[in-house]
Amino acid sequence: VGPLYIGIDLGGSNISAALLTPAGKVLHFLKTETLAQQGYKRVVQRMIDLALQLQQEAKQDSRLVKAVGVGVPGVLAIKAGMVLYSPNLPGWKNIPLLKMLKVGLKKPVLMDNDANVAALGERIFGAGKGCDHVVVYTLGTGVGGGIIIDGNIFHGFKDGAGELGHTTILPDGPVCACGNRGCLEALVSGTAIARFGREILASGKITLMRDLCGNKPEALSAKTVFEAAKRKDPVALELVNQTGVYLGIAVANIINLLNPELIIISGGVSIAGETLLRIVRAEVKRRALKVLFQNVKIVKAELEDKAGVFGAAGIAIQAYPARSK
Ligand SMILES: [Zn+2]
Repeated sequence: VGPLYIGIDLGGSNISAALLTPAGKVLHFLKTETLAQQGYKRVVQRMIDLALQLQQEAKQDSRLVKAVGVGVPGVLAIKAGMVLYSPNLPGWKNIPLLKMLKVGLKKPVLMDNDANVAALGERIFGAGKGCDHVVVYTLGTGVGGGIIIDGNIFHGFKDGAGELGHTTILPDGPVCACGNRGCLEALVSGTAIARFGREILASGKITLMRDLCGNKPEALSAKTVFEAAKRKDPVALELVNQTGVYLGIAVANIINLLNPELIIISGGVSIAGETLLRIVRAEVKRRALKVLFQNVKIVKAELEDKAGVFGAAGIAIQAYPARSK
């Protein structure tokens, strides 16, 4: 029997950890609250405790854990093993995370940005299986993603690459959380879709969205918009169409830039499914170079909220392959 790997997905609310075979079979899965307000040392200890528990499980099956991978939300210096800061983890400033984990686990530990790691998870074990050139867009509260080139995460000069949500789509569009105007995130994130939906309600338009949220604009979410669109509400369909067009513009640009073989759409907004993807494909077809469009697929993610732990194990598998010694 071959070696096993541990993937840890550190989130602002929860820490997930899984014990995986190199083929991506989950043998054990653990989850605990992050409780970031208790300070980083306690959080790191919780990560160590989960991993030790999984190592124990592996030992009982007489199997060895070869390496541990961690996905971290925030800005990292990957080679130095440092978390520079994290908007989701209050108080995390220049934390030597890798060193602390290595001391606690006495195993090789790898870390990467959570969005990158999730993208790699989809590439190795999900919708991107077998594809070496993949771009993953994650549309949730914000818009993130990851770029996979030649099978590996593309990091850029200072580990900052892959900020797909902050591509400018509309020069004078809505203000983004990053300060710029008209970023993809300010147009197609779940937050943005809900904001557009509320603006529509405020304009007094007749729409099923109003009934679905009980005429309470604050209760309207992106989900409300998709539900109304599913029931063929023309106003909601128009908003889904707008979302697909904006996303399509971004995707067309990245296709021309990188010539990927696969674009994966993940996150909460992807529940809009084929309705959204059809619009994205049509817009991409209009804008991308023909030869590049002909050779790319645009699909929905498969792993969803598990992509993080899978990808975290994935960076460990890539760095310490099962076959090598
Ligand atoms: Zn932005």
